[in-house]
Amino acid sequence: MEAEVISESTGLVPEVDPLAKFRAEVAAEKEAKPSAMSDRSAERLRQINYEDRVAKQNEEKFAYALTQVEVTPDTLSKLIERCSGKSSDLERRTSKLLFWIQSRGWRLGREIKAPHDISFLSEVTSDEIAMSDSTFAATWRVKKIVAPISDGPKMEDCRAGKECKWLKNRRPRQAPAGQFCTPICRQSFLAVQKRAKAGVRSVVN
Ligand SMILES: [Zn+2]
Repeated sequence: MEAEVISESTGLVPEVDPLAKFRAEVAAEKEAKPSAMSDRSAERLRQINYEDRVAKQNEEKFAYALTQVEVTPDTLSKLIERCSGKSSDLERRTSKLLFWIQSRGWRLGREIKAPHDISFLSEVTSDEIAMSDSTFAATWRVKKIVAPISDGPKMEDCRAGKECKWLKNRRPRQAPAGQFCTPICRQSFLAVQKRAKAGVRSVVN
């Protein structure tokens, strides 16, 4: 299926580096004369660093603005129009972008954070433009809406393990990695440990 063309791991396009040529020149010069970089080259390096900084700030601002955008077909289609400069087949483009957001849990401003991410993920092929509405809808139908990806702490079994007070099918409840699922669980686990230690001591004495 067309939808699977994009890599599962990142799904996003490699960025085009507008300064690649200059970077290469500077690198080549550095290699040739590692100790004595020419003034011209040093100046160029400063320029590259400056432009990189400005570009990074702009990227961050744009990504932040995206986090404030409510995901609706209407806002998405406006975004697509602005980022891709294309206003044809907007409805289909919007369906595609919505597909990645809903079926992968990708978030605006996080996994989808640059203008080229938006234009790339909403790009329609000539086949897709030519197909009927129903075929297109079937191709890009979201089969299962996935919750947005979370940056929260990694969850694992409650630190009390088998002593967890909320065992379910003999599995401890989930808690942030290395922690107890509730204060009660923590207290009771520590109390058991304390008693066990005291028991060992009384046997030794
Ligand atoms: Zn627990």
